[in-house]
Amino acid sequence: MKMKTNFQPMAGSAFLDGKTALVIVDMVNGFLTEGVLSSPRSASVLPECEKLLQFFAEHHLPCVAFADCHEPECLEFQQFPPHCLKNTSESQLAPSLQKIGGYVLIEKNSTNGFFAPEFQEFFRKHDELENFLVCGVCTDICVMQFCLTLKTFCNQQNKPVQIIVPVNAVETYDAPNHSAEKMQNAAFDFLMQSGVNLVCEVNIHESF
Ligand SMILES: [Zn+2]
Repeated sequence: MKMKTNFQPMAGSAFLDGKTALVIVDMVNGFLTEGVLSSPRSASVLPECEKLLQFFAEHHLPCVAFADCHEPECLEFQQFPPHCLKNTSESQLAPSLQKIGGYVLIEKNSTNGFFAPEFQEFFRKHDELENFLVCGVCTDICVMQFCLTLKTFCNQQNKPVQIIVPVNAVETYDAPNHSAEKMQNAAFDFLMQSGVNLVCEVNIHESF
């Protein structure tokens, strides 16, 4: 169940000036439909991510899609069971997103996409960006780490950026010692406290 919020919706038209990048976090098969870390909760936000990607792709707006992707000997497997191995379908983006296209695919070897060298390159290249619209999974891990790192990096540089997270387009998984609802709500609190803007949804066909 989604947290009840008073967050306001946002209009897709706000992004048409080309100063916003869509960042899709880890909507890969290994977190959605197959493998030990896949979860129906995570898969439930795929339609919303598709909608956002469709909008950004149609308007030729910048978009990054992170894909968790590991070699068998990676250090992250000391912390999490093996998942999203390179050259397996687990590390591939959801087929529906691949079909839409229009994104820069960035493979990442840690929970924090900000540190992926290709993201650093994308970020340097797109100096015009003032906003980052972030969707995907998992809210309390990869989404939150990316948002907080991007935000604090930009604060350090005195570079004004707005990071926007639609709460209907991010999710996390349920597991023993990991209550999805509790972790999702805690992540929303941390994000808000760190100056990330939460909105209830993005209405792509409206301008207000
Ligand atoms: Zn991983």
